[in-house]
Amino acid sequence: MTELKRMYIGGAWVAAASGQTRQIINPANQKVIATVAEGDRRDAIAAIAAARQAFDHTDWPTRPAVERAALLVRLAGLIEAEREQLATLESLDTGKTLEESRWDMDDIAGIFRYFAGLADKDGGEVISSPLPATESLLVREPVGVCGQISPWNYPLLQAAWKLAPALAAGCTVVVKPSEITPLTTLRVTELAITAGFPPGVINTVLGPGATVGAELAEHHDVDLISFTGGIATGKKIIQAASGNVKKICLELGGKNPNIIFADADLEVAVDQALNGVFFHAGQICSAGARLMVEEPVHDEFVTRLKARMANIKIGDGFAEQTQMGPLISAEHRAKVEGYVAIGLAEGAQLELGGHRPEDAELQAGFFYAPTLFSGCRNDMRIVQEEVFGPVVTVESFRSEAEAVERANSTIYGLAAGFWTSDAGRMQRVAKALRFGTVWINDFNVYFTQAPWGGFKQSGLGRELGRLGLEEYTEVKHIFRNQRPAAMNWFGS
Ligand code: NAD
Repeated sequence: MTELKRMYIGGAWVAAASGQTRQIINPANQKVIATVAEGDRRDAIAAIAAARQAFDHTDWPTRPAVERAALLVRLAGLIEAEREQLATLESLDTGKTLEESRWDMDDIAGIFRYFAGLADKDGGEVISSPLPATESLLVREPVGVCGQISPWNYPLLQAAWKLAPALAAGCTVVVKPSEITPLTTLRVTELAITAGFPPGVINTVLGPGATVGAELAEHHDVDLISFTGGIATGKKIIQAASGNVKKICLELGGKNPNIIFADADLEVAVDQALNGVFFHAGQICSAGARLMVEEPVHDEFVTRLKARMANIKIGDGFAEQTQMGPLISAEHRAKVEGYVAIGLAEGAQLELGGHRPEDAELQAGFFYAPTLFSGCRNDMRIVQEEVFGPVVTVESFRSEAEAVERANSTIYGLAAGFWTSDAGRMQRVAKALRFGTVWINDFNVYFTQAPWGGFKQSGLGRELGRLGLEEYTEVKHIFRNQRPAAMNWFGS
């Protein structure tokens, strides 16, 4: 039996009020890697009360921003010092390759440093008042208590996107990692204590979304709810948040087109199409799982893609040669398998995969073979819906206008990419695509300095960049009259 990992509420490590626990497993082999407290609504309510107390009755929100920034920098240093241990924990928890987890940890340390750097840069604004002898100021203040709910695909990275700006702004937080991948968030909570964050500023609760997450979204003492996860859950959060009209920041899913024009460098486009889909076994919100290829190069592109996909090395994320790990859970693999069955029923042509790998050593994990469908159409569910696995669809198109129209005919709007050597087309297509991020001759590039978020049903608000900090602030207009005078309008 492993040692119980507890929740961190109001400056203390606590077991669940119910005494319940949950076992965390490694998706590559189903071995138990930890036992954690399984919270419920009572624990969420206690954590919200602690965050409320720290926001309303301590100096945290009004401290000089440089002091908060110093804590963030210290936390970044602790994360850097533990890069290898944290990456190992993330790979055990998610199954992703160790190298991918190392990249995540580097990004995460950078995120804390970036928002530390931004924390004291806002000097407010002076507004030009139309009234004589008056002064008009615009200041940004922390929004308050923030509920932060993160998903299982990038557990610590997604938590860091939320924690770093909230703390930089002077908010207090209740963070809830996905119930199946809580380990790195728990470890970074420990590191935050070492860094010196005061009790109540960071509270980490564990447990199911339907209870703990829902409480964060509903509770009237929470001022902002930030959520990354599926679109169906996002819609529930919007409803739950309406009770006290809390601020909402949503990063939802995507079905992201990757468009290859005939004038593109085909070799690079094929290579990057693979990177676009198969990192973390396709469990990426911005995966380029919808390939659209211009007719003259379509057949050659599919042939080359298929040949490269057949060589992808699936396995345990800790093995050096592994290029792709398992899916996160049995339920999630069943969902991916369901989509493959839908694709077949819709008449898509299965070029490769469509099954679990047969290797004996992979049978205990939730592995799935890289899968390629060609002959796809815009109206197919396999093209329109987020599969979130190592499954890619290919459609051919005849003109730029057709490509743009079809790429935009989706409820999602997270990210899109296209490949061309025509400078005019670069401008036209980038403007015409209705997505939060558009990549030209690249795919899946993101960095901390640029905002991330979706058009349409892919989300509300932005994370990262300056906008990511502003999400955690309220704007206040302060007006001062320097020569107050009676108006004598009423009852005089
Ligand atoms: P999910 O919606 O099932 O769960 C996400 C989180 O929400 C978990 O912590 C879960 O416990 C919690 N949750 C579940 N039900 C809830 C409820 N009723 N109220 C409050 N919280 C609840 O998503 P997932 O399966 O963990 O993650 C995969 C999804 O996340 C995909 O759709 C993916 O596209 C999306 N995602 C988006 C981005 C982005 O930046 N846009 C990044 C990563 C993942």
